[in-house]
Amino acid sequence: RRSKQITTDEFVTNILAGNITYLSRAITLVESTNVNHQKQATEIIERCLPHANKSIRIGITGVPGVGKSTFIEAFGKHVTSLGKKVAVLAVDPSSSVNKGSILGDKTRMEELVTDKNAFIRPSPSGTSLGGVAQKTRESIILCEAAGFDTIIIETVGVGQSETAVHSMVDFFLLLKLAGAGDELQGIKRGIIEMADAIVINKADGDNEKNAKIAKVAFTRALHLYPPKESGWLPKVETASALTNDNIDKVFSMIAEYFTTVTTSGYFQQKRNEQNKYWLLETINLQLKNNFFGRDVVKNQLEKEIKNLENGKTTPFNAAKNLLDL
Ligand code: GDP
Repeated sequence: RRSKQITTDEFVTNILAGNITYLSRAITLVESTNVNHQKQATEIIERCLPHANKSIRIGITGVPGVGKSTFIEAFGKHVTSLGKKVAVLAVDPSSSVNKGSILGDKTRMEELVTDKNAFIRPSPSGTSLGGVAQKTRESIILCEAAGFDTIIIETVGVGQSETAVHSMVDFFLLLKLAGAGDELQGIKRGIIEMADAIVINKADGDNEKNAKIAKVAFTRALHLYPPKESGWLPKVETASALTNDNIDKVFSMIAEYFTTVTTSGYFQQKRNEQNKYWLLETINLQLKNNFFGRDVVKNQLEKEIKNLENGKTTPFNAAKNLLDL
C-alpha cells in the first residue's frame, strides 16, 4: 500500500491539471477521519487555495420531490454547453443515517454524470451538520482549483442545512412548486430571506398556468422584505427542468447577479465574511469535539446526568463541574 501512496505534489499537480480522478481521491482524503489522511488533505488544500476562488458558488434547495436533481441536471448541462465546467456537491447531514441520501443514488443526473465537464459528488457522511458542511467547503476549494468555475451545492430544504449552505455560496436559489394557492404558507420566513431567487419548477403542461400565478404571488411577497445588503432584488422565475424551459433564463439571472455584486464589491465582502464565519465555526467544532471526545468528560457527563435526574445538582453546576475538568 505504501508504494502506491500518492504524494502531495502529485495530488496538487494533477488537480491543477483538472484530473478528476485525483480530485475525487483528494476529496476522499478530506472526508476521511484518519489523522494521516486529514494531514495530507490539509496540505493539498493549502497548496490549492491560491488557485481557487475563480468561480460562482450556487446553493440550491427545495423540499424532496420539487425536482432538485432534475433541475441541476438541466442547469448543469446548460452550463457545460456554454463551455464552462460545473461541479455538483451536496450537504446532507442525514445521509449517514438513511442511506437513500440526496446524490447518493447513482441513477440521478444520469446525463450530467457522463459529461466530461461535470463533476458530481454525493454528500459526505457525518453526524454533525457542521462537520459535513466543513468537508463540503473544503471540497469546493479543490473543485475550484481543478478548474470548475460553477459550483452547485445541493441541500434538502427541510432543516438547518440551508443556513450552512447559505454561508458557503454566493447565490442562493430556492426551488418551489406552484401549489393550490397557499404557496406562501409552506415556506419558512428564514429561507425566503436567504433566497436570491425563487424558481417555480415544473412549469409545464397543466401546471404552467398555476406557476405563473405563483410567480406573481411570490414576487409580491418578496417585495415585503427589506432590501438585501447586496443591493440585489430577489427575482422569481418559472422553469421546467423537464422541458428545459427557462433554464437559460435562470442562468442569465445568476450571471447578472454576479456582474452586479462583483462591480459593487459585495461579492468579495461576502466571501470575506463567510471565511470569518467558517474560521469561528471550525474552532467551535474542534473545541466541542475535543471536549466531548475525552473519556474523563464522557464518564463525568454520565454521572452528572444521573445527579440531575436525582435532583442532586443543577444544570449550571453540572456544566461547571464538567468544564472544570
Ligand atoms: P428532488 O427530490 O428534489 O431531487 O426531485 P427529483 O429531481 O428527483 O424530481 C422528482 C420528480 O419530479 C421526478 O419524477 C421528476 O421527473 C419530476 N420532475 C422534476 N422536474 C420536473 C419538471 O420540471 N416538470 C415535471 N413535469 N416534472 C418534473
